[in-house]
Amino acid sequence: MNLKIIGITGGIGSGKTTIAKIFESYQIPVYYADFEAKALMNRSKIIRRKLTALLGDETYINGKINRKYIASKVFNNDELLKRINAIVHPKVGQHFKRWLKKQDSTFVLKESAIIFENNLQDNYDAIILVVANKENRIERVVKRDGLSKQQILSIINNQLSEEEKIPLATYIINNNSLLEAEHQTRNIYKELMK
Ligand code: ATP
Repeated sequence: MNLKIIGITGGIGSGKTTIAKIFESYQIPVYYADFEAKALMNRSKIIRRKLTALLGDETYINGKINRKYIASKVFNNDELLKRINAIVHPKVGQHFKRWLKKQDSTFVLKESAIIFENNLQDNYDAIILVVANKENRIERVVKRDGLSKQQILSIINNQLSEEEKIPLATYIINNNSLLEAEHQTRNIYKELMK
């Protein structure tokens, strides 16, 4: 099987999902790893049992993952975050493999916020990094999620900076202007279809 696996990543509010949707409009299958991880945390009994053992009964409320509680626990606790990831990520990996078998395309995209953070770039044939300046990212996430500027800034400062990620990426999409980003997306699509 020579289906190429292309990663698409970027910091909070950079526009990963927005660009991934453009690829979907070109009939490219997209696996949204962060979304699937959350879905698996809700429906996998094994994940539920392990997370509850690690974090306590408050981890789930009425059968649904309590993200606020988990976020408060992992804040400034990288060790705990690693342990949670060690429970969730292998399941996402298995789910992705099953999904991949069903795809018929020249390439697929896997959207994940933490490819470089977890040093996973070697699992991909190429990586697209979506970038946008801090002011735009903050403004867009304030609008989308209603978080405060301070909260978003602290998330940004917790992620790898764009300067650190740029040398590791195969393609960069500058998403300060949507029109420009759409143009770059089209060119990368053509390149990857060769
Ligand atoms: P996160 O990591 O937080 O999930 P993301 O990188 O997937 O974010 P998106 O959800 O695609 O980013 O974009 C963040 C918000 O900014 C969304 O509400 C989206 O509609 C908006 N947005 C994305 N790109 C642009 C753009 N070029 N111009 C204006 N708004 C944009």
